[in-house]
Order: sequence, then C-alpha cells, then structure tokens
Amino acid sequence: MNYKNFIAGSWEETSDSCANVNPSDISDVLGHAAQSGTAEMDRAIAAAKSAAPDWAAATPQQRFDVLDFIGSEILARREELGQFLSREEGKTLPEGIGEAARAGQIFKFFAGECLRQNGDKLASVRPGVDVEVTRSPIGVVGLITPWNFPIAIPAWKIAPALAYGNAVVLKPAELTPACAWLLADIISRSGLPEGVFNLVFGRGSVIGQHLVDHPDVAAISFTGSVSTGRGIAVACAKGMKKVQLEMGGKNPMVVLDDADLDLAVEACLNGAFYSTGQRCTASSRLIVTEGIHDRFVTALGSAMQALKVGHALEAGMQMGPAVDGRQLDQNLSYVDIAAKEGGKVLGGHRLSLQQEGFYMAPALVTETRNDMCINREEVFGPVASVMRARDYEEALVLANSTQFGLSAGICTGSLKYASHFKANAEAGMVMVNLPTAGVDYHVPFGGTKGSSYGAREQGRYAAEFYTRVKTAYTLP
Ligand code: NAD
Repeated sequence: MNYKNFIAGSWEETSDSCANVNPSDISDVLGHAAQSGTAEMDRAIAAAKSAAPDWAAATPQQRFDVLDFIGSEILARREELGQFLSREEGKTLPEGIGEAARAGQIFKFFAGECLRQNGDKLASVRPGVDVEVTRSPIGVVGLITPWNFPIAIPAWKIAPALAYGNAVVLKPAELTPACAWLLADIISRSGLPEGVFNLVFGRGSVIGQHLVDHPDVAAISFTGSVSTGRGIAVACAKGMKKVQLEMGGKNPMVVLDDADLDLAVEACLNGAFYSTGQRCTASSRLIVTEGIHDRFVTALGSAMQALKVGHALEAGMQMGPAVDGRQLDQNLSYVDIAAKEGGKVLGGHRLSLQQEGFYMAPALVTETRNDMCINREEVFGPVASVMRARDYEEALVLANSTQFGLSAGICTGSLKYASHFKANAEAGMVMVNLPTAGVDYHVPFGGTKGSSYGAREQGRYAAEFYTRVKTAYTLP
C-alpha cells in the first residue's frame, strides 16, 4: 500500500517514500508513505488558500452533510479502522476500535455544531445603535499531529476546523501514516470541495516547519512534544499567527488512606499502563499516603505483573508494544536512571516474544522522590513511579510540583478532599476516583503550565481557536 499525499482533491505520489512498520511484528510492513518536500507543502497550502473563501461561505447544511458523512463512515468501519490503528501504532485492538469510534463521534458532534453556530446581538450603550458579535473562519489552518492517537487527534482538529469554515492542511506524524490516509480517503468521498482538506506526509522538521512558517497559514494547531511545541510557539509569534499547543504531561494520581483500594488500583493500572503508557494523560506519578501505601504498592505491583503483554491484534492482550525502537530504548533508559537514582524497580525489562517487536514489561518504580528524573520528565511509556506522602496536604504539594499541568487525579472517599483537589490541582483536567486518562469528546480538553498553550480543544470551546470574533455596529 502506498500512502499518497492528498492535494487539491488529487492523490499524489512522491519520488521518495518511507516504510510503515508494525511495532508488534517488525516483519509486517503495512505500506510506504510519501516523503514530501517543501514544494508539495507549498502546493497544499495554495490549494487550501484558494478553496478557503467558498468553504467559508458554505451553508451550515453543506458543512453538516460533509461532517455527518465522515462521522457515519468512520463509525460504520470502526472495527476495520481500529485494526489498522492497532497494527500501525501498537495499542490493543479494543483500544484501537475504541479510538476509531471516538473519531466518528467527534465528527458527529461537530456536524451538529455546524447547525448551532450563533453570535450575540446587543443594544449599544449609544442610543439607536445595534451591536452584533459574530464569529468568522480564520482561513487556512495547519494541523500537526502526533502518533499516539493517530485517528482521534487528527479528527478532533479536522472536524472543528471544517465545521467553523476553515481550509485545512494536515501534517500527520511520520510513524502513523496509514491512519491519516484512511481518514483522508473517507474525507475525499464526503462531498467536501477540492482543496478544503489537504494531507501532506513527510518529516516534521522539514514540511512541518514549512507549514508553521508559511505566510498564507493563519493558524497552527499542534499536538506533540514540549520541545517541538516551544519552537512552533516562537515561529507563530514571529508570523503573528494563532497557535494552539497540546504537549506533554507528568500527571499525578493521589491515593489517600480513605480510598477504595480496588478502585485506586484499577484507576492506576489503567491510567499508567493501558495504551502502553503512550498517553499524554497517563498517570505517571502515583502519590500515596502512608496509611495505604504498602497495601497499594503490593496490589498494584501484582496487578501490573499480571497484565498480558503481546501482539496488539492478539485476543486477550492488555498491553501492546512501544511504538518503535527509539521509544522502547527511551523507556528502558528511564527505568535504568530511576534505579541508579535509588528507586526500587519492579518489571521494566525488555521482553522477547515469538515475533520480533518493541516489547517491554510494564514498570513500577517505588520509593522515589519528586526531584528524581523519573518524576520530572515525561517517559511516554508503561512506567509509573510511586512517592510517599504524609497526608493530603503534602500529596497536593507534590502533585503540583511539576512543570506540567495536563491531568491530575485523586482517589478518595472524602468529599472534602475531592472538592479541595478539584479547586487546587494545577491541571486543566481533574479526575476523582477515575484514571487521569480517558475523557469525553463533548467538553474541553487541555492543560495548564508547560502542557498546553492557547485556546482549549474539543467541545464548543473549539470555536475559540477556529474562529475570529468580529464586532459590528449599525445605526439603522
Ligand atoms: P513530536 O513533537 O516529535 O511530533 C509531533 C508532530 O510534530 C509530528 O507530526 C512531527 O512530525 C511534527 N514536528 C516535528 N518537528 C517539527 C517542527 N520543527 N515543526 C513542525 N512540526 C514538527 O511528538 P510525538 O513524538 O509525535 O508525540 C509524543 C508527544 O506528544 C508526547 O510528548 C505527548 O505527551 C504529546 N501528546 C500530547 C497530547 C496532548 O493533548 N497534550 C496528546 C498526545 C500526545
């Protein structure tokens, strides 16, 4: 299979291509993705620029029909798309199918939003004057996405971009071209006018950077690592572009003495290790008060060791491989550093299975301090650390002692502590008795501090980023 660029309504090959390898079994090559240069990116941006005015003028019904078509097809084909996703990215099949379904629901939600766009009409403070506040599209938006949610993240950027009348250039992650291609294939048959949606494959440092720097691109929505995000923010400031960044996390999960032990273990097992820990919202710092600490560590350790790790498409597997060799090496090296810094490590070793893939046993590092590397830097793998806290107050201080602020959780039976934590956790999303990962699609998603920058994604809040506000005064 060749994953081609989709530019101005046509599929285009490039002279160079890049192999797409299954991380569960490296002998399985899914296909080859186009490797574009700046010339392809220039053409995609030009196509979007020329298609933008007509799409901005499309009726809510036209936009609804397109988004509804895309959402319906994704939902109808969720199993097939989920299979591709799991084969390409390495999350287990139920997780892959779940993500595909999520992408479909997102398009359905924003299809509805096409019909619900409104503004304000107010009386002026000046006699006889009317004031209207409306939202208009921003023009060409560049969408840059990571590999870990290769259908859902493109969906939650493309759907609102189109719903609010913008033209799109998508630059997906190098490691997951099949999912982007499948999505583009569905979009190409949705009735969307040529040039409104364009897909360009290639290296982030080359074509991603070119998209960010291009003067005809009005806004950039990026999800990925902190270092890439910071560079994009600077470039966008120089070009006076709107920018939205969703980046890393080092999400705390506080477990208090009064927590339901089984529920806390399940929330941490899910939050830390599901999807191979490759979630920006993963629970990577578990902060546990003294009274429950030892029981919690024993129970979570056994539950973690019982997780079935293997080929993402094999029935019954609970954790797949790391996405590639580089990510696997990074995970193993963080486990190594944690041990050298004095952490007690359970699991965390490379696994050799029947087929060659990027497998490791999940890792729990106990007896850690918050100043250790394992508690400061995002691993982005199935590695969680545990810190002891004297009481709730100390746990909250530890939870907030991080440069990140995406998601934060607490397991407690106390309404008092749950309410205090919701108000005082320095995070964009707070979970009580739930894993730090796992969110709804109709409400805002995003963080604070070093995790996010700019307007929130998802739900109705997406309008903040994908539209420009205009105020009009009329003397009738
Ligand atoms: P990454 O930053 O390496 O790449 C993300 C995207 O940026 C890719 O498409 C890449 O090609 C592109 N890119 C790279 N250099 C670029 C440049 N100079 N200019 C423009 N684009 C460029 O991140 P990744 O490894 O794909 O993803 C993992 C990271 O994503 C983790 O840090 C994770 O926490 C984060 N993430 C965050 C969220 C969130 O919503 N907060 C969600 C998922 C993943």
